[in-house]
Amino acid sequence: DDDNQQKIDYMYKIIVIGDSAVGKTQTLSRFVKNEFCFDSKSTIGVEFQTRTITINDKVIKAQIWDTAGQERYRAVTSAYYRGALGAMLVYDITKRQSFDNIARWVDEILTHADKSIVIMLIGNKADLSDRREVPTEDAVEYAQQKGLFFSETSALKGDNVESAFFKVLEEIYGVVS
Ligand code: GDP
Repeated sequence: DDDNQQKIDYMYKIIVIGDSAVGKTQTLSRFVKNEFCFDSKSTIGVEFQTRTITINDKVIKAQIWDTAGQERYRAVTSAYYRGALGAMLVYDITKRQSFDNIARWVDEILTHADKSIVIMLIGNKADLSDRREVPTEDAVEYAQQKGLFFSETSALKGDNVESAFFKVLEEIYGVVS
């Protein structure tokens, strides 16, 4: 919950995007509530969640948006991207197709969002490494090519989720302040 009387210095809109079922909602709730819900999808209608953090003594409220399933029909509206300063672009390391679609999502982001948006490519479900279909090196190379940050995460275990969000928020802070 956001601390009641806290003065907010900055409010950053962050979007979470990528194919359906890659773990966008779980990644978000891991960061916001430190929770993983095994039987979720009660997110319909919920547009965003917030978490307030401090960087360099500045209080930053991250407003993190979830697609609420719109991506299933490639019907993510331009309103979703509008004003976003950061994007968590998620694929599933056990689903090659979700990585192959990343280029389309990057195009989509760059079409609709501000050109200075900070993008973090996230290979989620790193706990399922025995079923891996996307080598880490492929993603590293792609991220370098496109100028994206990159991290492999497990929303289930919590690995690297916090650091990936902090990286984006710190980068935005550096960009806008
Ligand atoms: P979304 O459609 O992209 O929002 O995906 P969800 O967050 O709803 O997750 C889709 C499925 O993947 C659900 O069954 C989750 O429990 C599962 N899932 C999400 N993140 C992870 C993870 O890090 N590891 C594993 N093993 N499963 C995950």
